[in-house]
Amino acid sequence: MNLLEQLIKLQEIDTAIMEIEELQGDLPKKVDELTTTMSELEVAITSAEARLTEVEVEIRKMQTLEQERKDKIAKLQDQLYLVKTNREYDALMTEIDFLKEELDKEEMRELELSEEKDQLTEQLETDKSKNEEMSQELGTQKKELENRIAETEEEHSELTQLREKVVKNIDKPNLALYDRVRGAREGFAVVPIVNHACGGCHSRIPSQLEAEIRSGDKMTQCNSCRRILYWEKAEVPS
Ligand SMILES: [Zn+2]
Repeated sequence: MNLLEQLIKLQEIDTAIMEIEELQGDLPKKVDELTTTMSELEVAITSAEARLTEVEVEIRKMQTLEQERKDKIAKLQDQLYLVKTNREYDALMTEIDFLKEELDKEEMRELELSEEKDQLTEQLETDKSKNEEMSQELGTQKKELENRIAETEEEHSELTQLREKVVKNIDKPNLALYDRVRGAREGFAVVPIVNHACGGCHSRIPSQLEAEIRSGDKMTQCNSCRRILYWEKAEVPS
């Protein structure tokens, strides 16, 4: 193989490697994103569960307090029948009224807490089922990614070995030129002449230059896009 043929061969290998890598597509990214979203959701679930426990404790405290108030009020109301003076009666009534007001406040607080408890329970149910769904989705995506990597692993390593062999036959300046043009031109550094024009950028190739490329293996670059040109009819041994 002459230099041009070596470069064309190298480009075939590089294109095949690129296709294999593209086959994995956005799967690694999707797996990453899903993992991040799931850990955020898990943090939210843990914090909602902690708050729910607090709310339940506070509700029980409130209920104990309310029961104590009710017992106290009942006791004071019994005492009303035993008092002998108006002053004593008024004093008891004042205390009963105060306790009733306190009881109202506590019952209101218990109601608020119960509402919060309902909201938290509902939110937790939604989050947990979302988490469960995501966990299954993540499992599927991870498996798919592993399969795709496994499927192409052999081919990928064969191509990489082949590339090393081909690269050995190309001198450093030309390899550097190939890499540079390939990097700048979307993976295609070597292009055929098509209808007297560059197969990459379609710039017209002067007929004198075309004749030179057609006759020999001289390295010629397109004046416009700097891609390496070859005569399309050239047989490329594989
Ligand atoms: Zn060109």
